[in-house]
Amino acid sequence: MLIVMQSQASEDKIQKVIDFIKQRGFDAHISRGEDHTVIGCVGRKIIDKRDIELLDGVKEVIRITSPYKLVSRVFKPDDTIIEVNGVKFGGTHIGMIAGPCSVETYEQMDVTAEKLYKSGVRILRGGAFKPRTSPYAFQGLGEEGLKILRKVADKYNMAFTSEVMEVNQIPMFLKYVDILQVGARNMQNFNLLKSLGEVRKPIMLKRGLSATIEEWLMSAEYIMSGGNREVILCERGIRTFENMTRNTLDISAIPVVQKISHLPVIVDPSHATGLRDKVAPMSKAAVAAGADGLVIEVHNNPECALCDGAQSLYPEEFAELFKDLKALAAVVKKTF
Ligand code: PEP
Ligand code: MN
Repeated sequence: MLIVMQSQASEDKIQKVIDFIKQRGFDAHISRGEDHTVIGCVGRKIIDKRDIELLDGVKEVIRITSPYKLVSRVFKPDDTIIEVNGVKFGGTHIGMIAGPCSVETYEQMDVTAEKLYKSGVRILRGGAFKPRTSPYAFQGLGEEGLKILRKVADKYNMAFTSEVMEVNQIPMFLKYVDILQVGARNMQNFNLLKSLGEVRKPIMLKRGLSATIEEWLMSAEYIMSGGNREVILCERGIRTFENMTRNTLDISAIPVVQKISHLPVIVDPSHATGLRDKVAPMSKAAVAAGADGLVIEVHNNPECALCDGAQSLYPEEFAELFKDLKALAAVVKKTF
C-alpha cells in the first residue's frame, strides 16, 4: 500500500502516519519527491485503508496489486540516479563500467585500467570470485583479486565493481568494492539479496539467465525492502532457443522496465552476445533504446584471457566505441 501525503504535509504529520502504520506491524519506506512524500507501507498484516485515509495530511492511499512496491514508479515517480565516483546512472545520465571478465594479475589490471582511464572510464569491473559452469575452469583469485582491484582503482582514482557470490563474503567485499555485483546465477539467491538490503553501497543486479522481468524486479524489491535504495538493474541477455549468440539481448527490457520502475537499467552487451564483434552494435542499440549505462568487458590481451576472451574488446576498440556512444547519447538527449 502506498500513502501519498498532501503537498506541504508537515514533518510532524508524516511522522504520525509512519508511527501509525509501524504500530500496526508494517514497515515504512519513505520517498520524498518534488511535490509529495510517499510512504510505502510494506507488510503482511491487514489494515483498513480508510483508517489511513482519515489521518491528517494524507492525500490518498493506493493499494498496489503488482507484487513490487518499492521498485515501482508509483512509489517513486522520479528516476533514481545513482552516482559512483562522479559517474551517474539514471535520468539523463549514462554511466560506463569497463574492465576484464576476471582479475588475473596486478599487471593485467594495471595495463587495462590505465588504458581505460585514458579513454574516459572511471569505474572498472573485474571478477575475483567467478561463477563458472565448470568446476575445472578458472575460479578467480578470491580476496587477492579484490585487493588488486582496489590498488589499481586507487592508483587511477577509479571505482570498481565485482561479483559477490555468498552472504559470508559481504563483509570482505565492503572493505574493497564500490559497487557489489549480483551475477545472473545468483539473481534469486534470496538470502544474498536480503543481506545486500542491509548494505549501504550500490548493488548491480544482473538479470537471471531465464528470469522474467517481473522476477528480476522482485529480486530488486528484496534488496530495497531491506533498506538499500541503490539498485542498478543490468540486462545481460536471456536464454532463448537462439544459439548464434551466447544469450539473446532483450533490448525491449530497457523501456519496459523504465516504465514500471524508477531504477536505472544498464546493459551488458558482452555476456549478452558472447562475441567481440557484436559488442559495439549492441552497445549502440542499448544507448539508442535509452539504457542508463553499460558494462563492457575489455582485456589488454583477450587471446590470453583466462575467462571470456572471445567477448572482450581490445582497449583501442573500446576507446573508439566509447567515442561513438557519446555522440549517439546526444541523439537520445542523454550524456555519459
Ligand atoms: C560477469 O559479469 O562476470 C558475469 C559472470 O556475468 P553474468 O552473471 O551476467 O553471467
Ligand atoms: Mn565474463
